Formats: sequence, C-alpha cells, structure tokens
Amino acid sequence: ATHFLSRVRMHPEVGAFLDIQEAVTLAQAQAADDRLAAGVAGALEGVPVAHKDIFVTRDFATTAGSKMLKGYQSPFDATVVSRLGTGVPGQGHGAGMVTLGKLNCDEFAMGSANENSAYGVVKNPWDATCVPGGSSGGSAAAVAARLTPAATGTDTGGSIRQPASFCGITGIKPTYGRASRYGMVAFASSLDQAGPLARTAEDCALLLSAMCGPDADRDSTSLDAPSEDFTRSLNNDLAGLRIGVPAEFFGDGLAPDVRAAVDAALKEYEKLGANLVPISLPRTELSIPVYYIIAPAEASSNLSRFDGVKFGFRADKFTDLNDMYLQTRAQGFGDEVKRRIMIGTYVLSHGYYDAYYLQAQKIRRMIADDFQQAFKVCDVIAGPVAPTVAWKLGGHSDPLTDYLADIFTLPASLAGLPGMSLPVGFGAGNMPVGMQLIGNYLTESRLLNVAHRFQ
Ligand code: GLN
Repeated sequence: ATHFLSRVRMHPEVGAFLDIQEAVTLAQAQAADDRLAAGVAGALEGVPVAHKDIFVTRDFATTAGSKMLKGYQSPFDATVVSRLGTGVPGQGHGAGMVTLGKLNCDEFAMGSANENSAYGVVKNPWDATCVPGGSSGGSAAAVAARLTPAATGTDTGGSIRQPASFCGITGIKPTYGRASRYGMVAFASSLDQAGPLARTAEDCALLLSAMCGPDADRDSTSLDAPSEDFTRSLNNDLAGLRIGVPAEFFGDGLAPDVRAAVDAALKEYEKLGANLVPISLPRTELSIPVYYIIAPAEASSNLSRFDGVKFGFRADKFTDLNDMYLQTRAQGFGDEVKRRIMIGTYVLSHGYYDAYYLQAQKIRRMIADDFQQAFKVCDVIAGPVAPTVAWKLGGHSDPLTDYLADIFTLPASLAGLPGMSLPVGFGAGNMPVGMQLIGNYLTESRLLNVAHRFQ
C-alpha cells in the first residue's frame, strides 16, 4: 500500500484520484497485516484497490464526479466496497483489500471520455493528450499508470469495457444482477452493473469472485446466483470454442487500425483451436437510440433525489423552497446531466411515453432475443469495444459523437449480458486496442478463460 500511495502522490498529473486518506489506508493495511499474521486472511488480504467515485464509502468522500455531491460523506460502504474490504456486516469476512482512494469519473457516470467530471480531466497514461475513456476513466488510467493494481468501475453502457480498451488494460462487466448495486450512485438502474478493471483477466477474476454474490435485502435486482470462483476455468483449453463474429461490428464505422488489431487477435484464437462463426446482431445500430432513451429516462427519475435537501450541495441564494430546488439543480448539475434529465423527462411525459419509452423497451427485448439466436451457434461473441482508439482530449465537440462511439458496448448492456475488454494490440498513434468478448448470462468464467488464454 505504501508503494502505491507514493506513486499516487508522485503522479497527480494523471488526474485519476479524487480523494486519498493516507491514515485510513495505512490503518487498513496494518489491520490486513494483523489478519495475515493471525492466519485469518481474506482471499486478497492486503492487496490495494481503488474505487470509482460512484461507490459510496464511509471513510472517503463520494462525489460521483458531480458538484451536486460536493462535501457528501456517506454513513456506509457500498456492498461491493464491503465485499472487497472487510466484509458486509453480518455476512462473514470480505477479501481484505486495502482502499487507496476514490477515482475520478464522468458526472453520475454519464460520458465516454471522463470529460464530464466536475473535478477535472483524466489523462490517458499512454498519451497524455488523449482521453482515458469513460465513464470509469479514472479507474482505467490509475491501473494503466500503475497507481493501483486494480480498481472498481461501473458499466451502464460500456463504462468499464471502453476505458479498459482505451487504456490497454482488462475489465469485465458481469451479468446484470451479479454484483450488488447497493451503495452505487444510481444512473440507469436497469443497466448499472459493477465490475473490476485490472491488468489481466486473472486479476479481474480474483476481484470479480470477491465482488459478486446475492444481496437481495439491499438490491431488489440482485441475482440469486451463488458466489463463484471465477478463476476456476482460466486455463481451460480453447479447442473447439465457437467464437461468434457479428457482421454488424465490422462495418464501415470501424476504424481500419482497430479492425486490424481485432482481426489479428481472432487469428490467434484460431491458432488456439477456436472456430470463428459468422453471426448477425441485426439491431446493433438501434441500440444507440434505444439506450439513449432508456438510460436518460431512468436517470431523470434517479436524479430527482438531488434537490438540495438531503445530499451534498445546496445553492447559497434562493427565495423560497421551489427556488432552492431550482437554483441547486441549475448550479449543481453539469451540462450533460441536465441534457439527460431533459431527454428523460421528455420521453416519459404523457403523450410521448408510448412513442419513445415503450417503443425503446420493445426493441430492447428484441436486442436481447437477437443475442439468444446468436448463442445457438456460438459460445462467445468477439468484436471491437469501440470504433476507434482513444481520441484527443477535447476531440469530440458535440455529445452525439460520444453517443455514436458507444455502438459496440450498448447491445450487451441492454441485454444484461456479461462483457469484457482485453488488450489485443495497438492502433493509430500507438494507442491500445481492446477486444470485446460477450457471453451468455452467467458465463463470466468462460469469458475470463477465453481472455486469459490470449494473455
Ligand atoms: N457512454 C455511455 C453514457 O454516456 C455509457 C456510460 C456508462 O456506462 N456509465 O451513458
């Protein structure tokens, strides 16, 4: 822990950390040493981890990248934080990891470049003039810059997979419901899912095993699937593995450098004994409008709790209660968050609900069905994570360009399927390229196995 704390102190230019509390970290490290000495160690006892600032933490500030939560201190830890740390009270001990601090992210996890944070940009460690991806940009950059061996992230529409890809590391979003959402600041509740970002699939498997498990009392969408050891099949042979290659992921929108790196990786898989199977995910393009209706709709509802009364920020000057709400929300939320709230309330409003929200829900179901058709002929699906490598800071001047770049990560999110990103090479400007693996429900250990055999 002291090694990583000193690296964090030495590299403020990355912009990854939003809160560090050295005394807390060192006390946790001491407690971990004591448990190791006493022979009661957790699975990852003493290993440092840092958390995306979307997870609430008792001993560190939580902002969700927003001015709205400036000064907010949670009275409890998110379930994921507890499970990786000393354990959920009353549920046995946790993995024993030591928290290094909290990591920068897009405001309320809305974004693809970490440029929507109220607390400054994060720089891509491979090229400081490029974005790290988002919304878990701080998590990916911190791991890539070796400021922490591992980090947590959340993925609503790609926010673990895309920054992992842009920063040349590994990240996995498990099946929706695997990891508890308790204590995760909510963006779009039917999509939000926690997962690890680390150097390798093996490290991700170790963290994911500790993170996941039922939490029905605290998260009503928590799956009743038992905790698993996701490292158990890392070394399985890939002979005969059927890798589905969706035509829609390799169309005109895919940059040639990314395509070349992903194609080369697929060739490697053939050498490892896998068979490539052409498949179709015909509604891939529709995932963009569908996601950008459903996610803002849910966000507009979730963010209504930020009214200046209960959490964090409140405007200084106001005339009456309504004006207090108005001023607080006008000053506390950034532009992208306001845009989503407006889109969300619009698509949910009387007269438009059927035309937008209901339609989007129907197509969401069809997208999930398309995957089930595909999994009849393949075991995992492989393709790019994003159409390009990391772009320049400030390189996307309008939000639509960001939204369009989410095309390959949104389908698995809408279907609730597990997806991961593993580094497979380099593209333009020597920037990392990630390959995406998508599996059927609850097949995380298979995905991690497929990634591990490449690494
Ligand atoms: N880029 C997507 C968005 O802005 C996904 C973000 C996420 O997964 N949290 O909504």
